[in-house]
Order: sequence, then C-alpha cells, then structure tokens
Amino acid sequence: QRDRLMHAIGYVIDQLDTPGEVLPLLAQLGRDHRKYGVTDDHYNAVADALVAALANLTGTELWTDETERAWRDAIALIVATMTDAANAEQGPPTWVGTVINHHRVLDDLAIVRLQLDQTMPYVPGQYVSVQVPTRPRMWRYLSFATPPHPDRIVEFHVRRVSGGWVSSAITTDTRIGDTWLIGSPLGGLGVSRRPGRRRLMIAEGTGIAPLRAQLLDMARLDDTPRTHVFVGGTYPCDLYDLDVLWGLSRTCPWLTVVPVIENSDNP
Ligand SMILES: Cc1cc2nc3c(=O)[nH]c(=O)nc-3n(C[C@H](O)[C@H](O)[C@H](O)COP(=O)(O)OP(=O)(O)OC[C@H]3O[C@@H](n4cnc5c(N)ncnc54)[C@H](O)[C@@H]3O)c2cc1C
Repeated sequence: QRDRLMHAIGYVIDQLDTPGEVLPLLAQLGRDHRKYGVTDDHYNAVADALVAALANLTGTELWTDETERAWRDAIALIVATMTDAANAEQGPPTWVGTVINHHRVLDDLAIVRLQLDQTMPYVPGQYVSVQVPTRPRMWRYLSFATPPHPDRIVEFHVRRVSGGWVSSAITTDTRIGDTWLIGSPLGGLGVSRRPGRRRLMIAEGTGIAPLRAQLLDMARLDDTPRTHVFVGGTYPCDLYDLDVLWGLSRTCPWLTVVPVIENSDNP
C-alpha cells in the first residue's frame, strides 16, 4: 500500500505541468475515497505526515525552505482537489449491488450481474472499485461490461488471477443474493465523438469489458462511424464473449469484429 501511495503521489507530481489532465483524475479519486469514510481531517493529517517523512528522508542539507514550500503547495493542491470533489458530490459514497447472476464461462472466468440499489451515473468505459462479502476491506477495480441500464443492472467480467485474493473469490464463491459494495465510477476511457472518425479497438481477455460497454452504447445511436474490433486470446475458448460481439456486428453494419488467437485448438 505504501508503494502504491508513493507511486500515485509521484505520478501526480510529475503530471502537474498538465493539470487539465491530472486534476480531473484526482477529483474522481476524491469522490471514490468517500467509500473509506475519510474526512478533511484525515487528508490534512496525511499531508502533515507526508511532509514530515519527506523532510526526514531528504535530510537537512537538501530540504530547504523552498523545497518544503513546493511540496506543501503540491500536496495542498492534491488535498484541495480531492476534498472539494468529495464534498461537492451529491451521490452516495457507495452503492450496494445484489448479485442476480453468476455465470462461470470458463474455469477461471465468471460473468457477474448485479442490480444496484440506486442509479449510478457512469459512462461506458469507466470502472469502479468493488468489495465482495468474502473479502472485506479488499477493494478491487472492475470495468463495467455494459452501459447504464434502466433497471440499474450492471455486468462485470472477472478473470481469476493465480493466487489472487479477490478474483478467485469472485469466480468461485459468488452466490446469487450476495451484496457487494461499489465505489464511485472512475476513469476516462471513451470513444472519440468527432464525426467522420473511424474507430479501432483492440482487446484481450476481460479487457473486452470496457470496449463492449461502449459498443453496446454506440449500438443505441443512429450515426455511428465504422468501427473495427480485434478481440484476442491464447485459445479459442478465451474469446468467451465472441457470440455477443458477432451478434452485435450482425445488427450493426458499422461494426466489424475480428477474432485473433494464437492456437487453433483449445487445451
Ligand atoms: C482500471 C482497472 C480495471 C480493471 N478491470 C478488471 C475487470 O474488468 N476484470 C478483471 O478480472 N480484472 C480487472 N482489473 C484487475 C482487478 O482489479 C484485480 O487487480 C485482479 O482481479 C486481481 O485481484 P486479486 O485480489 O485476485 O489479486 P491480488 O491478491 O491483488 O494479487 C495476487 C497476485 O497477482 C498479481 N496480479 C494482480 N493482478 C494481476 C493481473 N491482472 N495479471 C497478473 N497478475 C496479477 C499481483 O501482483 C499479486 O502478485 C482491473 C484493474 C484495473 C486497474
């Protein structure tokens, strides 16, 4: 967790030259952090601790007043962006999703459908952090595989990672009626809306999920540009969602789906 925090802070500091890109991400993160129950006081305490740790590790020779001011300014910007976004948010800190379907399409891959307790304003291509009942406090990110649905039904495609805590619990132990906690939508993956632009999408494994959500959304529009989708896997069985994609391409003349595999036979 420490490595991740330092990596994230380093990334943000590196990106501050282009605040237009990084500040919206921080705002999303602030909204998402509401799920931990953090308050402004927690942020301020972390900021003070971080500056103290940096000063301690840097040593008195290099840690000048100017360095401290620069760090304090950068951290204050991060804190303000996250807390402002969190405080301005009207929606709930978490949504409750009830599992209504769990389909193990491969030994190591499950498609899970949940019904949310409230409408979640997300756009296709985004992802959320989820907490499942058998793995408390282990939040993991999953991409929506479907666009927003009027009955608040969402779908996730989860592949079991060897030795993974949460992915193995989801693929093997999920039961209908389980309730998951789901954080605020995150991410900015999306298709260009510029007219006349052709689109190319390339996905492997469950990486198809966020693209599929966008394709299903695009299928609802009248004027959609030509779109090529390459969907890849090691074996034919890895293309677990090909029927849906081909079905879509049969009704959407703008869509071409090309399967790509490394071996022609299943193991
Ligand atoms: C933006 C985003 C969207 C995501 N969307 C999805 C999705 O739609 N479906 C999905 O199945 N997963 C998705 N993931 C990955 C998911 O969040 C988890 O990281 C993954 O399920 C592993 O969690 P775990 O608890 O099982 O593994 P952990 O217990 O966290 O990790 C166990 C071990 O596996 C390694 N590991 C973790 N992830 C992977 C990986 N992907 N490949 C190889 N080794 C790994 C770890 O380094 C560690 O050594 C997404 C991740 C991100 C960042």
